[in-house]
Amino acid sequence: MAEFKEPTFRENVDLMFNRAVALMDIAPGLEEKIRVVNSTYTVRFGVRLRDRIHTFTGYRAVHSEHLEPVKGGIRYATAVNQDEVEALAALMTYKCALVEAPFGGSKGGLCIDPRDWNEHELELITRRFAYELIKRDLIDPAQNVPAPDMGTGEREMAWIADQYARMNTTDINSRACVTGKPLNNGGIAGRVEATGRGVQFALREFFRHPEDVAAAGLDGTLEGKRVIVQGLGNVGYHAAKFLHEEDGARITGIIERDGALFDEKGLDVEAVREWIVRHGGVAGFPDAAHTADGAEVLETECDILIPAALEGVINLGNADRIKAPLIIEAANGPVTAGADDILRRKGVVIIPDMYANAGGVTVSYFEWVKNLSHIRFGRLQRRQEEARHKLVVDELERLDRYLGDAWSLRPEFKQKYLRGADELELVRSGLDDTMRIAYQDIREIWHGREDVADLRTAAYICAISRVVASYRAKGI
Ligand code: GLU
Repeated sequence: MAEFKEPTFRENVDLMFNRAVALMDIAPGLEEKIRVVNSTYTVRFGVRLRDRIHTFTGYRAVHSEHLEPVKGGIRYATAVNQDEVEALAALMTYKCALVEAPFGGSKGGLCIDPRDWNEHELELITRRFAYELIKRDLIDPAQNVPAPDMGTGEREMAWIADQYARMNTTDINSRACVTGKPLNNGGIAGRVEATGRGVQFALREFFRHPEDVAAAGLDGTLEGKRVIVQGLGNVGYHAAKFLHEEDGARITGIIERDGALFDEKGLDVEAVREWIVRHGGVAGFPDAAHTADGAEVLETECDILIPAALEGVINLGNADRIKAPLIIEAANGPVTAGADDILRRKGVVIIPDMYANAGGVTVSYFEWVKNLSHIRFGRLQRRQEEARHKLVVDELERLDRYLGDAWSLRPEFKQKYLRGADELELVRSGLDDTMRIAYQDIREIWHGREDVADLRTAAYICAISRVVASYRAKGI
């Protein structure tokens, strides 16, 4: 936005941090220690591709090592730069603290457009990047554990894990050096959907508190709510899909790189996703109105706006025109500090990124634990749980026979009750619990303190106080 001077992404995060610490009582000097990024490593490396050497630039920023390993994704995008990875690393620190994932914060990135390279080339580039980070202990199960982010996924994580294993042949925990791996390669069920699932669980928890829903000028449940999603990547897609299929929300708008789709009656998320995969964008989608101007839909009336793509999409240039009364930040940093001020003054409720998109790292935490314990969740208990349930069902069936027509056991109850939970169910249950508890912790600060008027400040206060406590425990 030429006419509006916005601070950088990292400055935005610092501004939000400063707003929160101003309301806290922290030991002198500790505030700065927590705010700063501990280190950022820049690597430049060459890979021979298409008959010449190509030089790539990558980063790994470590924001806080109050707990180790530090955690955070690796992003592949041309816009990756030091300021961005540092901002994202800081958000990881607060995010992990908020959901009680025992990690410090880190983030990495590679300046590359993954669409410019074929799979084999991407493998060579990824392995070389991983090599540079591994040899500096910037990927290590005990020190620094990356995960997917924009432009990366299971495939890249599998290459990284394999590269680490090759360089650390005697490390029995090598699989825990990275999360977000494919299920057959040390991954965990439910990691791909995790961030979107977390957005759904966050909204469900929000709607369990009528007082909070009223603060956004809304009422009722998620059923029938009009939702606009910006970015139908992994996070936006899963959030939209689950909210539509399981909570009855109407996805009225989907904004992508090449414009937006709008349908007041609700879009078919699955069909739009398929279209995007096949055609690279939303243009031409036959069953909804398309506009080339995505901004128009971002500013359209709706109940819930879900920015699920890039940082800074809601900024000083458009904040005034945003009509959604409730914004849930599925992306990291989608609302700038200046826009946050404007929206707050307008009474918009914002469920902040560090909470809203923490589902990814939460399930990463489960994956890391699974890797370190070398056993799938539920493997020991599942059949035993089923056997115990069977005892109850057998007794109920005895009663059923005794009571005759007066009462009978419903077959679907028997079927559901007998089945022990598999890994996916356990992961979803752990994620649901995490998202509920974290929200309750934040809202307690939001409603409990006169000087805290918004969820973001409450979330920062909650997260920072946990980081402070961990410094205090170390005697710092
Ligand atoms: N990149 C994701 C995030 O921003 C996931 C990080 C992780 O799983 O470590 O939260």
